[in-house]
Amino acid sequence: MLIDGHGRKVTYLRISVTERCNFRCQYCMPEKPFSWVPKENLLSFEELFLFVKTAIDEGINKIRITGGEPTLREDLDKFIKMISDYKSDIDLAMTTNGYLLKESAKKLKEAGLKRINISLDSLRKETAFKIAQKDVLDRVLEGIEEALNVGLKIKINMVPLKGINDDEILDILEFGKKRGITVRYIEYMENVFAHGNLKGLNGKEILNHIKKRYEIKKIGRDGASPSFNYELKDGYRFGIIDPHKHDFCEDCNRIRLTAEGYLIPCLYFDEAMSIKDAVKRGDIKEATEILKTVLQNKPEKNRWGDENNEVSNRAFYETGG
Ligand code: SAM
Ligand code: SF4
Repeated sequence: MLIDGHGRKVTYLRISVTERCNFRCQYCMPEKPFSWVPKENLLSFEELFLFVKTAIDEGINKIRITGGEPTLREDLDKFIKMISDYKSDIDLAMTTNGYLLKESAKKLKEAGLKRINISLDSLRKETAFKIAQKDVLDRVLEGIEEALNVGLKIKINMVPLKGINDDEILDILEFGKKRGITVRYIEYMENVFAHGNLKGLNGKEILNHIKKRYEIKKIGRDGASPSFNYELKDGYRFGIIDPHKHDFCEDCNRIRLTAEGYLIPCLYFDEAMSIKDAVKRGDIKEATEILKTVLQNKPEKNRWGDENNEVSNRAFYETGG
């Protein structure tokens, strides 16, 4: 069993399989980084899997593949199959911008992927363009339809931004409601890589938009999930992820692994330790020791929402959000 330095049980591993992305979202990677990590510095899927097997043996029961844009990494379906073949009942999910899903959803589902979170910040072509700095909407919508067709369970992630897409909070809710898809609104998390002029909406402001049309009942969080859930009168549920309150940190059950082999204990902080050399040498015992050290040093909570409007130095496209 994996326990961190604050006594929290860690059962959830998020793996960022690439930092590369085909979007340039204003809140994440508005400019292409000065240089990408060279491919030879990445852990191969075989190497990542060596670590994943041990992590599962130690008690990880949920894995999310993320990025950058995970569907850009070649042979992703093979990696998913390796994990699924090793433990078929693992909760295996992916977060994607949806752009390449039309082509890949079926293959990923057949490989063993169970659930998928798709980012959808706008239903207006121009606004989607403004946020991702690319004409993305039609392909993302086709990707969502395809993921539904092949039987993947879907959630939609939206990051509401003042003056950009905050007038679409209800439209995105209706989009999800009509299709039986849970929508999760994520508060914009300030970081040094994002465009400096962005302002996100906080949870209360997001709820105020929804209250214009609906009566809302508070439900609460589902286990260790950071999403606080609400219900409409007809039973439809949506969630808000509100890291500025960091009240979900006390139940945090997650650890992050990057494509380069860094284990990152918290989305906010710079701290990380590399398992790359250990894994490349096939020394899984050492990689497991490093994992336990990282967990011992896992911070108690993030710093968004603390005094002085804290801003993270970590890139979301590296950690996978
Ligand atoms: N490329 C994929 C995607 O966009 O879904 C996966 C990686 S992305 C880093 C994972 C999630 O983080 C997305 O839902 C995205 O909206 C969210 N995200 C990225 N930067 C963010 C920020 N500054 N604040 C809040 N959420 C952010
Ligand atoms: Fe790419 Fe996802 Fe970041 Fe947008 S949020 S730039 S799609 S990694």
